[in-house]
Amino acid sequence: MKCDRCENVAAYSRKYSGENLCSSCFSRSIVHKTTKTMTKYNMIKPGDVVGVAVSGGKDSLSLLQILKEISLDHHFTLKAITVDEGIPGYRDEALKIVEEFCRKIDVEHKVYPYNSLFGATLEQTLEHRSNEKTSSCSICGVLRRRAIDFGAIDLKVDVIATGHNLDDMLQTFIINIISGDTKKIGWMDPDTSENKIRKIKPFYEIYENEIIFYAFTNEIPFQSEECPHMNEGIRTEIRNFLNSLEKTHSGIKNNMFKSILKISSTLKDSNNSEWKTCSECGSECTGDICSVCSTLANLRLN
Ligand code: SF4
Ligand code: ZN
Repeated sequence: MKCDRCENVAAYSRKYSGENLCSSCFSRSIVHKTTKTMTKYNMIKPGDVVGVAVSGGKDSLSLLQILKEISLDHHFTLKAITVDEGIPGYRDEALKIVEEFCRKIDVEHKVYPYNSLFGATLEQTLEHRSNEKTSSCSICGVLRRRAIDFGAIDLKVDVIATGHNLDDMLQTFIINIISGDTKKIGWMDPDTSENKIRKIKPFYEIYENEIIFYAFTNEIPFQSEECPHMNEGIRTEIRNFLNSLEKTHSGIKNNMFKSILKISSTLKDSNNSEWKTCSECGSECTGDICSVCSTLANLRLN
């Protein structure tokens, strides 16, 4: 089968749009879509130093590669922030991959271990949870957010970019609905230009399987080892459910995403009136103390 955009042989069938693309036209379409998302939501301003949170997975390394590719034309510079949770046998492979990749594309890179920031690795922290039902990922996620914020201040970046894709957003939306955390849905709005620390997700509008294909065709090395805690939470089940829906109803993820954008922008406006400053750390939150500080306080108590 021929590529719809050139004379090459097609390598990818984009089911939801009916397009067949060769690997170069496919890669160009991903770079183009990423740039379009960034422009649409005013994600990066000329002169910005962008801190990319790079875990060593396919999403963050692909994001780093694409941002590097467009950085000259869009007048911004890059730095890479990696968090080391201290998960035995898991993080070491990723740290090596990220280090080599950053050296190859000439991006400054710094690692922030939980151990030095919080005085304990993730595994040690998990031993001190007050409620056995609290998932490893929810604790890890809170600590990671704080570690990345710390890295952003340390490296003096203007904006933090993460590799979250459209599938991640749908999963997060459903998790927030299931747990009754409707306030957090307001935080999913892609325009963070008015926030104290801008946090952007340039892959917001791209399917996860397209990022995987991009990483493969562009020979981006990424971590093969899975985190041992990955399947503890409900996220994997939701991911599988959404994938099975998409298989029989192509485009359904895109439709759902559009609805989420409308809901989150409405909720964001009502959240805005409730913004306060955390009494512990001074970051933006909706209560008296932010989720990071309350998690840390709970862990310390135990
Ligand atoms: Fe942390 Fe969960 Fe990711 Fe493992 S899967 S690194 S525990 S958030
Ligand atoms: Zn706080």
